[in-house]
Amino acid sequence: MNLVFLGPPGSGKGTQASMLAKSFGNGVRHISTGEMLRTEIDKNSEIGLIADGYIKSGKLVPDNVIFSIIEKSLNSYIEADILIFDGFPRSVAQALRLEEIFLQKELKIDIVFNFSIDKNALIKRVCGRFSCENCGLSYNTYSNPTKIEGVCDCCGLGSFVTRPDDNEVTFGDRLSVYEDLTFPLIDFYQKKGLLFSIEASIDPKAIFKEMQRVISDYKYKKRG
Ligand code: AMP
Repeated sequence: MNLVFLGPPGSGKGTQASMLAKSFGNGVRHISTGEMLRTEIDKNSEIGLIADGYIKSGKLVPDNVIFSIIEKSLNSYIEADILIFDGFPRSVAQALRLEEIFLQKELKIDIVFNFSIDKNALIKRVCGRFSCENCGLSYNTYSNPTKIEGVCDCCGLGSFVTRPDDNEVTFGDRLSVYEDLTFPLIDFYQKKGLLFSIEASIDPKAIFKEMQRVISDYKYKKRG
């Protein structure tokens, strides 16, 4: 089964994709292009050096870089039963490329989850988020702070990190990029009968349950 997660920055698609990946266990691969690029930046690799400026200015990293990391990961995930694409595709051109790659590999997309949310709710979600440098637990200054100020609830350490693109200026650029290039994918996948929209402002646990329900209905229909 192959799933695509679509949504504006701060819609919670990354968190839900990770939760779903964990719930599936061994045969799943979570392909987050944003995470892969941040890893390349941390390694100071050639890809990281190219990606860094684009990410910091809220722009999309060029397609040739993205296609190369996608193809590399798909070649190494050949045994996976479930692929979860989080943050890819982000434009119609990327979606068409994914179709070509999938055609060659005799794969198909099963469900596209579209995380829909009022854009006014997004800025606090994005600009308030931070995570523990040690254990990675995510927080939000406004909606989900640490229980004790400056101390991680999980590991008790006090060192936190914020993504360099999670600030008000870059957020505006990321949202425009989403509206211009990614938003058209809603119609693209709707026409293919693959889109399932999720109201992303509700409780994360309820969103997770809803996704699980959609997946089990899909499997049931496929069997029948
Ligand atoms: P994300 O972690 O998904 O919010 O992505 C962070 C940043 O990485 C984006 O703002 C883009 O600069 C870059 N990025 C992630 N995925 C892609 C993609 N599929 N195409 C181009 N750039 C991407």
